[in-house]
Amino acid sequence: MDSVYSKYEPVIGLEVHAQLKTKSKAFCSCSTEFNAPPNTNICPVCLGHPGTLPVLNKNLVEFILRLGTATNCRIRERSIFARKNYFYPDLPKGYQVSQFDQPICEHGKVAIGDKTIGITRIHMEEDAGKSIHDMSTDESLVDLNRCGVPLIEIVSEPDMRNSKEAYDYLTMLKQLVIYLDICDGNMEEGSLRCDANVSVRLKGAEKFGTKCEVKNLNSFRNVADALDYEIKRQIELIEQGGEVIHQTMTFDARNKATIPMRSKEEAHDYRYFPEPDLVTVYVDEKWKKDVASALPELPHIKIARFITEYQLPEYDAEVLTQSRELADYFESVCKSIDKQSYKTASNWVMGEVMRVLNEKKISISEFNISSQNLASLVKLIADGKISNNIAKEVYTEMLSKAKGDVGQNPERIVTDKNLLQVTDTGEIEGIIKKIIADNPKEAERYRAGETKLLGLFVGKVMKESKGKANPKTVNELLTKNLGNN
Ligand code: ADP
Ligand code: ZN
Ligand code: MG
Repeated sequence: MDSVYSKYEPVIGLEVHAQLKTKSKAFCSCSTEFNAPPNTNICPVCLGHPGTLPVLNKNLVEFILRLGTATNCRIRERSIFARKNYFYPDLPKGYQVSQFDQPICEHGKVAIGDKTIGITRIHMEEDAGKSIHDMSTDESLVDLNRCGVPLIEIVSEPDMRNSKEAYDYLTMLKQLVIYLDICDGNMEEGSLRCDANVSVRLKGAEKFGTKCEVKNLNSFRNVADALDYEIKRQIELIEQGGEVIHQTMTFDARNKATIPMRSKEEAHDYRYFPEPDLVTVYVDEKWKKDVASALPELPHIKIARFITEYQLPEYDAEVLTQSRELADYFESVCKSIDKQSYKTASNWVMGEVMRVLNEKKISISEFNISSQNLASLVKLIADGKISNNIAKEVYTEMLSKAKGDVGQNPERIVTDKNLLQVTDTGEIEGIIKKIIADNPKEAERYRAGETKLLGLFVGKVMKESKGKANPKTVNELLTKNLGNN
């Protein structure tokens, strides 16, 4: 059966909606706040009352220009809005303001690994309200807070060839919108939404197959699962002599299966026409330049820089640059340590720091250990003043103190708790002599050739020194002392 699947090549294109982080809505001054009580962030403009007029939020344009620039799009100097007409209870105006034949950004491209994915277009539009069907058994409710919240739609070319590429593309897009500070990237809260288009064709075929569009995908995992299911379904259908029909599907996450929603024949005719109440959006060269020069360092550039500047493996660079804040934290740690310790710092941030962030579900900005104090901890390890094990103990103590508390200073903790690593050979040798004297039988067996008992002695010496003895010195001195007697 495997060979049947490998005869085909999947073709995938994604349409991603990103809800922008503007404070107010696209065409009125209502707040875009997420958790407001139902129907409180509304006004005659976003409810489409007769006689009201929309006014474009400049930040919406500013934000889309950032993404358009970061994805190498061509930016249209003059673009217009269009009305997309349809009837639905959560759309009081009876139309959505969107862009149709003159989107502001077109012909972009992004890289995922070695592969380039084309961006067909990125355009501006407004969100609709929300119908709520599960709060009452005999009626549906509607919350119009979301009406008019600004969205951008990012349409990719059909350039992806498997679910992993789609997953990676989404991951990259999410990271990008977060870096650009235009969307919080939260798929569960609906700030990022994805519709996946997929078709299959025989390998080597030039023409694309008929595509299906899967909606209702609320996590990256679901996108990948839905694509895998749909690819298999289409191949099996064709293999059985059937034909894929152009359909819209929904994804049932529990059964990991796609279900037909409507076929395209029943599809809407949106009767697009130019929005008469809004003026042309004009983006001059200066605005484009200003946006370009204010862009932050983009993720792929940062990754490359981390690899060269901090001599880190690619994996580390990717993890540490997940967010700008995390990357900044790491760089701030590195400012006060030696070059030789960059990798140790990376291990600590990727390991202990990120473990705590994940456990507490907090971001690095809410993390209580300052980069300065983490740097001091790394320095203590690098200077051989404490072992890794003791460092973990110190770290636990640091975690228990509030940010800014002098008690969080690792040097102070080491001094107060008397945790300095013992490198003094005299002191260590004293302990060793005592341990050997206390365990004559084991020492005898060691000398008789049972050298694996060395570990036992190391353990006892470390314990006696409360973990503070320098392990390397202990090893050397033990071998010497056990051999001597
Ligand atoms: P529609 O007219 O159905 O909206 P579009 O041509 O506008 O289709 O494309 C919508 C999305 O579907 C885009 O992301 C595009 O890359 C993708 N797409 C188009 N044709 C195919 C195909 N044959 N297989 C997979 N994806 C496709
Ligand atoms: Zn409003
Ligand atoms: Mg289309």
